[in-house]
Amino acid sequence: MQIIMLGAPGTGKGTQGNLLSKHFGIPNISTGEILRSAVKQESPLGVKAKSFMDAGELVPDDVMIGIIRDRLREADCENGFILDGFPRTVPQAEALDHLLSAEEIDIEHVIALEVAEDALVMRLTSRRVCSVCGKDYNVVSDPPPADMKCRICGGEIIQRSDDNEATVTKRLDVYEEKTAPLKEYYEKQSKLRHVSGVGNVEEVQDRIREILHTL
Ligand code: AMP
Repeated sequence: MQIIMLGAPGTGKGTQGNLLSKHFGIPNISTGEILRSAVKQESPLGVKAKSFMDAGELVPDDVMIGIIRDRLREADCENGFILDGFPRTVPQAEALDHLLSAEEIDIEHVIALEVAEDALVMRLTSRRVCSVCGKDYNVVSDPPPADMKCRICGGEIIQRSDDNEATVTKRLDVYEEKTAPLKEYYEKQSKLRHVSGVGNVEEVQDRIREILHTL
């Protein structure tokens, strides 16, 4: 099964993609996570990507397409994959179609998670995340422990450097301008499935599973 999680920052692509990954036994590939890990390691990719990420801008298409090309060649993608945060532009989507058609693979479903913009600003600026295992917390709805140590792995819980209000606003603008047009792109391919991202994690997951199982 090949799935793309499409949606503005904060709609829950990562959380929902990870649950689908466990359910279907296929990897959830988050380009944001790949980049954050490169930034942490201060690799050449990380050094290049950091300024774009901190500004809420997109990392250039050629860099991102190269990352995905290499990642999809790994053995764990043999039975399918979930893409979380890629593609984010029409050129990236075209490059992905090109890459996959060479392997005679097709994207089956594009899950478009929908949440109103004012709720997204709130979700993102109140988000906290474990710097080790990536578990999400939220100072309003799921507060981290007082000592800021992750309940799952004990790692330090931090605020992502791009989750401040100015960068969040920029990221949402960039989404509208560059990524939202992908809905039309995948609508034309009859792959787009709209899902409300409002509600608790389990409710949203159930909606997605229902769509995947009934199609
Ligand atoms: P995310 O974790 O998906 O919100 O991504 C965090 C940041 O990484 C984005 O704001 C971009 O700067 C960068 N990024 C992640 N995926 C992509 C992509 N497919 N194309 C360009 N930039 C990306």
